[in-house]
Amino acid sequence: MTRLRRADTGVQIHRAGWVIVAPNTVLRDGYLLTAGGDVQEVGQGRIPGRFPVVDHGPGALLPALVNGHTHLELSLLEGMVPFNMGFRNWVRELIRIREEAGPARLTEGAKAGIEALKTAGCGLVGEVSSLGLTRNLLYESGLAGVWFREYLGGDLPPDVSTGLSGEGDNPGPGPNHSALTASLAGHGPHTTAPEVLKSLKEQTRARDLTFGLHLNESEDELEFLTTGKGNWADFLKERGIDIETWGLPAESPVAYADRLGLLDERTLAVHLIHSGANEFEVLRDRGARVCLCPRSNAALHGRLPDLAGMLKAGLTPCLGADSLASVDSLSLFDEMAFTARSYPEVAPETILSMATLNGAEALGLADRFGALEPNRAAVFTYLPATATTSKDLLEQLVHGAFLQNEILYDG
Ligand SMILES: [Zn+2]
Repeated sequence: MTRLRRADTGVQIHRAGWVIVAPNTVLRDGYLLTAGGDVQEVGQGRIPGRFPVVDHGPGALLPALVNGHTHLELSLLEGMVPFNMGFRNWVRELIRIREEAGPARLTEGAKAGIEALKTAGCGLVGEVSSLGLTRNLLYESGLAGVWFREYLGGDLPPDVSTGLSGEGDNPGPGPNHSALTASLAGHGPHTTAPEVLKSLKEQTRARDLTFGLHLNESEDELEFLTTGKGNWADFLKERGIDIETWGLPAESPVAYADRLGLLDERTLAVHLIHSGANEFEVLRDRGARVCLCPRSNAALHGRLPDLAGMLKAGLTPCLGADSLASVDSLSLFDEMAFTARSYPEVAPETILSMATLNGAEALGLADRFGALEPNRAAVFTYLPATATTSKDLLEQLVHGAFLQNEILYDG
């Protein structure tokens, strides 16, 4: 069962049969010495000093998981949009239900989504908000991460940068506000005019914030960007959007984003279902971050990204649950289990990194999250694991063998 917990600011020891400090540092009979909500020291064996000890049990403590890409405003739509109707129909149906539901019900859904994240051991989130409903909810929830206000279309409202982090705004009274930043995302290169994407990226760059972008997700997007023609081009023209100035065709969606100057180490590109080695090299050379949502991709597109190719190119992808409109849970344990099953050649350590450290790095918060190393936040989950070796422990963990867990907030 979930147990949210904020330890007092005093010094405490948290011990367990295993402490997963980071995917490559797993301590048997380990402990964390925490103070002021941070990890001060990690160790194993005999516990130092005479500090209060919380003995979690024979299982494993692991860092809070990171959901690198999600849309909490769609949580209400759980089970309401069939996946097998084709992507364009899915989007149309999603927009119809969303409009019918209205902001109050969508907000209630988002609250439930936040609780679901915490229940499943998630402490850090990349939330993409197209309606602007979730910022305060996240501040109040104690979850850390990046709140991306997302825009699309041909024009930007004049006030997009109001209230962004990094310009001296006051984020509000949330318990963890210093670790939740507000930034901007462009929906995608096929839905958002190039000038709009460039402007959004420029505004995040000026404040050293992470910029979010869906990239190379659908057949429509790929066809449109690489030919300048097709169903999607017709759709945009019908809506009165002038695509003559977009500079198409492009070699690939990644090449197009690169030409617009959107790719650097503070950009989080999401999906990349149709990308291959050439695109991975461009992303790597620019230092761009990548987030994959395999369960959502399988449900909506019947196709998975080339994870092995990304790893071979030197990318460090993180994982996202996307939204309850395309997956049946927001649990990163479920996302890891699906990923482990779908990519049996990828090591458990790598999959756990995708759900922890890589996500924290992608969101620009790796100095505080993603591992239980000294000077990072002591935010973790306890799993009732029964492994006899660290290899078994990680293997079982990424395959979802211990889904009953709790998240502890210390500080
Ligand atoms: Zn998305």
